[in-house]
Amino acid sequence: MTQVLVIGAGPAGLAAATAASALGADVTVLDSSYDLGGQYWRHLPSTRPTASEGILLHGFERFRELRERLENDSQVRILTLSQVWAIDRNPDTRNAGDSSVGDRWRVHVLQGVPDGHDRLALTIIPDAIVFATGAHDRTLPFTGWQLPGVFSAGAAQALAKGERVAVGSRVVVSGAGPFLLPVAASLVQAGAKVLGVYEASTISRLASGWLPRPWQLLGAPGKAAELVGYVGNHLRNRIPYRTGRAVIAAEGDGRVERVVVARLDANWAPIVGTTRTIEADAVCIGHGFTPRLELPIAVGCALSAERFVAVDHRQATSSPGVYAAGEITGIGGVDAALAEGSIAGHSAAGGSDDEAAMSRQRRLRAASTRFAARIEAAHGIRPGWSQWLTPDTLICRCEEVSYGRLCDTSAHTGSAGLRSLKLSTRAGLGICQGRVCGRTVEDLLGRLAAGGLIDTTSTDRRPIVSPIRLGELAGGTVLPPAPPPPGNTEERE
Ligand SMILES: Cc1cc2nc3c(=O)[nH]c(=O)nc-3n(C[C@H](O)[C@H](O)[C@H](O)COP(=O)(O)OP(=O)(O)OC[C@H]3O[C@@H](n4cnc5c(N)ncnc54)[C@H](O)[C@@H]3O)c2cc1C
Repeated sequence: MTQVLVIGAGPAGLAAATAASALGADVTVLDSSYDLGGQYWRHLPSTRPTASEGILLHGFERFRELRERLENDSQVRILTLSQVWAIDRNPDTRNAGDSSVGDRWRVHVLQGVPDGHDRLALTIIPDAIVFATGAHDRTLPFTGWQLPGVFSAGAAQALAKGERVAVGSRVVVSGAGPFLLPVAASLVQAGAKVLGVYEASTISRLASGWLPRPWQLLGAPGKAAELVGYVGNHLRNRIPYRTGRAVIAAEGDGRVERVVVARLDANWAPIVGTTRTIEADAVCIGHGFTPRLELPIAVGCALSAERFVAVDHRQATSSPGVYAAGEITGIGGVDAALAEGSIAGHSAAGGSDDEAAMSRQRRLRAASTRFAARIEAAHGIRPGWSQWLTPDTLICRCEEVSYGRLCDTSAHTGSAGLRSLKLSTRAGLGICQGRVCGRTVEDLLGRLAAGGLIDTTSTDRRPIVSPIRLGELAGGTVLPPAPPPPGNTEERE
């Protein structure tokens, strides 16, 4: 029986695990979170359920269905609170060839409460891997974004969805993309007053991204309906939605007390003389998403020009036996993640790609991919944003590296090496390891270096994905394959 390891239990991972087990594979699906569901279906812990969960989360019935199916499937092992912290070459079979992923890769997992003292170190050696690790949200910096009261939109939404906690009582939401709408909705549901949603793209850019070929939107009816729901929420709660505007500074004595909003031109450069100050105690910022690429990079997966994991029509990566699905292959939303997950799980379990069920998933994937292209056309980051920076604006908050320091170091060294510039400035080398600022540091240094940078993929390379104690490194148990289900006498190969 093929052993498939699915890393990440969001929509893509749940769909992958379901499809792999339907083909008879022995499936392990794991996630670092307390519960299954990923970002889209983040919900209150099962110890504190609420009757309104289904109303608060879109498609929650689909989630319940997937979860129940997996929980009741004896071929599926579910590991929550399980963080993959590294993948390395399997020394036992280093020269054994490429007959399975297990011949080449060992997956190292820490199971237990994050930062707990009794985490269990496990090693899994599967036949095939599906990466479904999603993305984290991208936040462009502005003066004062280090103040308490500034949140990434994703963090604010995670608190609202997973804890029913609002990050403030008078909140401004700013950034780009349709994701700002569910963030505002979650904040309202958690009890905050949302003072406004400020979308950086101008109305003409939004129109050029969303309006052409409207019939294509019919291929993604779930998303269109969801969008209509959010617009209704805005109208009911009288939340202003302003386009071509952005929060360009946060101010306050020790925490956010007000934000400065400016009008932007089509390139996202602030227009002089258009600023306005709004009294607020929190601001949530989101400018799209950055895929979590550490693990695919560790096993040598090729990346696309847009810096996602490159996959073929079967969701296979360039690394044999390794598949990828969901947000790490492109920002396509939940429907794309579900379709890609189904295809990836099916392929990882050895399924043939001409089965009818797979052609349906491929059609769904194609429709969702078109939706994603519209998001990029309408809301993709434009270069003019750097004009709202001042020399004192912090770019890397962990190491407190300012924009002025990046400019000075680049001018003095004349270096085109991202790694050497990061080592000289320490930008991106702090506790978050560049997850928050990495792409921004790379963008700004790339503009400053004549001829661009020479080693950009180093931004996403993190061989140790999450911190590990020395004691945990010393221990470790190899996780045996799950026992075959009752009545199944098939020998393992
Ligand atoms: C913060 C955030 C909030 C979002 N909210 C919305 C929303 O409200 N509405 C909407 O339409 N879209 C939202 N999106 C987009 C949404 O994530 C996608 O549409 C969809 O959830 C993608 O599914 P996925 O399975 O690819 O990834 P995800 O749902 O992100 O699932 C990935 C899972 O992998 C796990 N994981 C990652 N790395 C590891 C590791 N090393 N070890 C173990 N587990 C790991 C994570 O814990 C996570 O549960 C959000 C995205 C983000 C980043």
